[in-house]
Amino acid sequence: MRQGALTLARHVRSGEMSAVEVVEESLAQIKAKDGRISAFNAVLGERSRRRAAEIDRQVALGEDPGPLAGIPVALKDNICASGVPTTCSSRILEGWLPPYDATVVTRLQAAGAVIIGKTNMDEFAMGSSTEASATGPTRNPCDLSRVPGGSSGGSAAAVAAGMTPLALGSDTGGSIRQPAALCGVVGAKPTYGRVSRYGLVAFASSLDQIGPIAADVADAALALEVIASHDPMDSTSIPDPCESLLAAVERDVGGMRVGLITDLLGEGIDHDVTERVEAAARALEESGAEVQEVSVPSISYGLSAYYLIAPAEASSNLARYDGVRYGLRVKGENTEKMNVATRTAGFGDEVKRRIMLGTFALSVGYYDAYYKKAQKVRTLVIRDFEAAYRSCDVLLAPTSPSVAFAFGERIDDPMSMYYSDVCTIPSSLAGHPAISVPFGTGAGGLPVGVQILAPPLREADMFAAAAALERA
Ligand code: GLN
Repeated sequence: MRQGALTLARHVRSGEMSAVEVVEESLAQIKAKDGRISAFNAVLGERSRRRAAEIDRQVALGEDPGPLAGIPVALKDNICASGVPTTCSSRILEGWLPPYDATVVTRLQAAGAVIIGKTNMDEFAMGSSTEASATGPTRNPCDLSRVPGGSSGGSAAAVAAGMTPLALGSDTGGSIRQPAALCGVVGAKPTYGRVSRYGLVAFASSLDQIGPIAADVADAALALEVIASHDPMDSTSIPDPCESLLAAVERDVGGMRVGLITDLLGEGIDHDVTERVEAAARALEESGAEVQEVSVPSISYGLSAYYLIAPAEASSNLARYDGVRYGLRVKGENTEKMNVATRTAGFGDEVKRRIMLGTFALSVGYYDAYYKKAQKVRTLVIRDFEAAYRSCDVLLAPTSPSVAFAFGERIDDPMSMYYSDVCTIPSSLAGHPAISVPFGTGAGGLPVGVQILAPPLREADMFAAAAALERA
């Protein structure tokens, strides 16, 4: 796309450009590029064209279609749109059609957006490379021999390749921010509860959040403003209204207290990445912020706690795929055998690994030793963040310990794959917002993302700091 969402929507609202033109350009980009990148599980050509024509009719009648007028938005394939296949890139959902729209889809459409397609992901959002997809991997538009990150790799690649100005992803432990970093785009995870999870296929319900992926910070702010809302359909939804994030993007960061997280620099983080984070700290200082070093000691246990809590919740959430209620059914002599045959054929290796890990962690005798202990660590992480935020407004850290890696490099070594999220998992455990912003390049000229973390409900400060980095 030649322009960002903010500019395009302005043109469509003023009648300078038609929504049909915008949508046609997106579809043409997808047609030209997606054969190589494979970001999309489904492209909704006819539906998008019809919807764009409707928006143009509204404009012709002098009505305002809304802040995302005519803007194509790609949905990660775990977000439901009524009547459009939602596969979670899993065989087990084959043929299933959601009977309703996710709240984010309702909000996007009410703001004039056009759902352009569904994007590829690691199966059920479990992974960091989009290699664990039943439909095959997505390629990183910056280097086709490398992974786009994951699990929202399709969404990040679609935006990075200019196939759509905006996409939504979901982030349980880093799945919006890490692929955004690896593809050189912006990805924001809001405070837990800021965006409704109604219509998002559940992975780990106490961690899952939907958020935007965009080419720049202002577009991400615009999209988050549209999708953030209180929703009675999600019992964890926060009633507080969201401050204007577009206004925050313009804000000066003079006097803002920024904490550089020392626990996420050095060992385990590639040198090129550390260098860019230190450069980001200097850039914020030059913009008038006060940068200091802080330690959040318990975050070093974050990864271990996450890999007990997330699989535990997943093992329970994924029990619903029983061959009766959704998608795939493989025949068996009786119900139990049908159930086993369906799950054996329908789930990929990583999903099975998580279900086993989670079931184990929740079993009698292990519950106290593993699950309960992990929950205690989660509380410690929250307390350590609270302490850090007594002297800091936002925190600065890498998004990913390395730039985009090659296909096959980590897929057979779960531990090294899990390590990809070491920098993003802590704010997920705490339920805090965090954003990844591209900040130059590292090894092989590949993009490096830096992360701004903020206390709960302080997305405005997070966007202000992110925009300052982008300007730098
Ligand atoms: N990569 C992490 C995992 O595999 C995070 C995934 C996510 O945020 N959905 O669980």
